Amino acid sequence: MNGPAVTGPFVLGTALAEREQVGLLRNRIATDGASGGRLRVAGREYLNFSANDYLGLADHGAIKAAFNAGIERYGTGAGASPLVTGYSRAHQQLEETLAEWLGVEAVLLFNCGFSANQAVLKALLGKVHLLWQDKLNHASLQEMGSQLPCKMKRFGHNDMAALERQLEPNRGLIVSEGVFSMDGDQGPWRDLATLAARSGNWLMIDDAHGLGVLGPEGRGTLAAQGVNPACVHIQMGTFGKALGVAGAFVGGSRELVEYLVNFARHYVYSTHMPAAQACAVSKSIELVRAADESRAHLGQLIARFRQGAKAQGWQLGASDTPIQPLLVGESSVALQLAERLRECGVWVSAIRPPTVPVGTARLRITLSAAHREQDVDCLLDALGVCPAVTTLGEAHHD
Ligand SMILES: *Cc1c(COP(=O)(O)O)cnc(C)c1O
Repeated sequence: MNGPAVTGPFVLGTALAEREQVGLLRNRIATDGASGGRLRVAGREYLNFSANDYLGLADHGAIKAAFNAGIERYGTGAGASPLVTGYSRAHQQLEETLAEWLGVEAVLLFNCGFSANQAVLKALLGKVHLLWQDKLNHASLQEMGSQLPCKMKRFGHNDMAALERQLEPNRGLIVSEGVFSMDGDQGPWRDLATLAARSGNWLMIDDAHGLGVLGPEGRGTLAAQGVNPACVHIQMGTFGKALGVAGAFVGGSRELVEYLVNFARHYVYSTHMPAAQACAVSKSIELVRAADESRAHLGQLIARFRQGAKAQGWQLGASDTPIQPLLVGESSVALQLAERLRECGVWVSAIRPPTVPVGTARLRITLSAAHREQDVDCLLDALGVCPAVTTLGEAHHD
């Protein structure tokens, strides 16, 4: 079959060729399923150190059973957007569970974290407002921020002095992350809360990678750092990472949620997540709250990995979370390393620009409670046969 003519207003081929030339062309790999910290690709099994399934819940029997029971009761699809008939008792119960778990007045569910972030920023920020973002915030936040009529200022990663210099009283919203997705380090939430309160601005946390993993009952980064959730006006988190399902939420005051129900276009004009999925997430939260043992096991794996990788001379990030970057610098080096590890049966992602700043390509290793100590040792053995390279300039060192 012939494709459409390649001439026209868009120069897709040129853009792709340019990406390929600098070694940044992306492609996808179809997996044949994953479970227990492993994945299958083209008939071969690998240890999977690339997933965000930090507690090993993505293939959990009780969550699958809750999903199935939800399908029996509610069917497979919500059938409509939430303001029409897509909002069910299952969604409502999940909102109530989340609100109680996280200490917020009210919660709203979204189909994914990307749209939750975009919806909040778009609904809140007008021309008169200012938006302050950590420069390592997720693409969903950066991108929407730069498209809005408000003025956006980006501060250096976790640089509170820089943020303080930029702040203007009573003008807008400060957004940062609980755990940074490509670095694994945490935002300084006590300081952020102080600066927000002192300047009369609102504060939003994206806790996609902290939720379930950190703090008592897995309540996330704020709980881990002892920050009162009342000091953070907007809490956002996702269900696709530690919770092992899919979807996202935004929590805060009742007034905020009522406002979003009325003004968040990604919420109003999108078919609601299936009720069965809400049933699965509710079950997942029940398990996550009781998963202290998994979190302790995960902590041991993290310490074991860091100790071993350090001894081999790798440059680690300042991370005590399951996200453990090995910083190598050049994209081509990161790709070669990932390839070598695959030959050893270990699946690790090479992360390159524009996902991370130029010159900071890395192996992004993620640990899961589904891994055993021997799995981490296999990873370290595989890394041990690769040279502990780094082509990073001095400027990038800790
Ligand atoms: C994954 C992620 C998102 C997006 O969530 P999805 O539900 O996957 O769309 C948003 N923010 C951060 C920090 C993330 O890591």
